[in-house]
Amino acid sequence: MKLPRIDYLEAKTLPEACALLAQGDVLACAGGTDLVPSMKHRVKAPRAVVNLKAIGGLDYITYSEKDGLRIGALATLRDLQNNKSVQQKYPALVQSAAMVGTIQLQNMGTVAGNLCLDTRCYYYNQSSFWRSARPACYKAGGEVCHVVKRSDHCWACYSGDTAPAFMVLGAKVKVVGSKGERVIALKQLYSGDGQKPIALAADELVAEIQVPARAAGSGSGYTKLRIRKAIDFPLMGAAVWMQLEGKAGVVKDIRVALTAADSAPIEVPGAAKSIQGKPYSEENLAEVMEASYKKARPVDCVIGGSPPYRKKMARVFVKRAANLAYQQAQAK
Ligand SMILES: Cc1cc2nc3c(=O)[nH]c(=O)nc-3n(C[C@H](O)[C@H](O)[C@H](O)COP(=O)(O)OP(=O)(O)OC[C@H]3O[C@@H](n4cnc5c(N)ncnc54)[C@H](O)[C@@H]3O)c2cc1C
Repeated sequence: MKLPRIDYLEAKTLPEACALLAQGDVLACAGGTDLVPSMKHRVKAPRAVVNLKAIGGLDYITYSEKDGLRIGALATLRDLQNNKSVQQKYPALVQSAAMVGTIQLQNMGTVAGNLCLDTRCYYYNQSSFWRSARPACYKAGGEVCHVVKRSDHCWACYSGDTAPAFMVLGAKVKVVGSKGERVIALKQLYSGDGQKPIALAADELVAEIQVPARAAGSGSGYTKLRIRKAIDFPLMGAAVWMQLEGKAGVVKDIRVALTAADSAPIEVPGAAKSIQGKPYSEENLAEVMEASYKKARPVDCVIGGSPPYRKKMARVFVKRAANLAYQQAQAK
């Protein structure tokens, strides 16, 4: 498949990139691993793209006890996995980045590009020829959803791998635009609307991801359901962060987030209530697993795995991610 005709723009600084985006009908291209296939499928058809990779000094990853982890927008998923501080303090980030697509995609794909992934749907992420057999859906500018019949809105699913891991770690993102910059909680980056899932203005970019320093006795883990061990987007992905206290490994706090479960990466509300103050065990985790099952609303949006099966798998993958988080938390 060939790319459509588009203007290629290059920015040397973030303000320059924002000014180009403000011209309208221009999309940001970081690694291009999602945007380029989308343009080949005519799922995205901007007038121009602005290449962010020409901006210098945005691929940093730093860690300090005072500021925590700071990740520049152009750090790749591979950079994230190879960083010693990330390996020691945030295993969920390493695990989730290592499960994105393939090593080639991780070498090209950026952390910010992964967080800003568009939502996906079985009917939408197809070639224009394939799509032409049906009326346009909400996401393609039409008046119908092919996934949930008679629905009044788009159900396309958010399927990025690293977002739930960053979410349970309490991440924030620095957003820059023509009018200035702001720092928001990661969950505010997501609108929850399948049609326009990323809550940024047309001229805004994610410039930096910020994660608090690792708290003593805490641990994190990420696991995902997929058919093939490479390439596949998650059919269900779960991240867990927990903090233990005392010698008996009593759970002080726990956070759970899911991907491929809704139009945004979602936190499981009140996850801590049932297990707080109890020693960690799979038995004591049962209500957290159940709450995750109830919260997940997967739809027919990627290849394979029926939505009811994937919903049930939320329980299993939350348990696996919690076991990983426990291992790190217990190791101090
Ligand atoms: C075969 C295949 C398999 C894949 N499997 C997975 C998978 O398993 N899991 C997964 O999570 N992803 C997967 N991907 C998607 C993609 O490779 C990754 O998500 C990658 O991290 C995207 O990063 P990028 O830098 O290439 O983003 P791009 O393609 O450059 O951009 C993606 C989107 O983010 C926007 N964007 C980029 N940077 C910024 C920024 N700084 N601020 C605001 N918006 C920005 C772009 O405008 C675009 O809309 C797969 C892709 C392919 C082709």
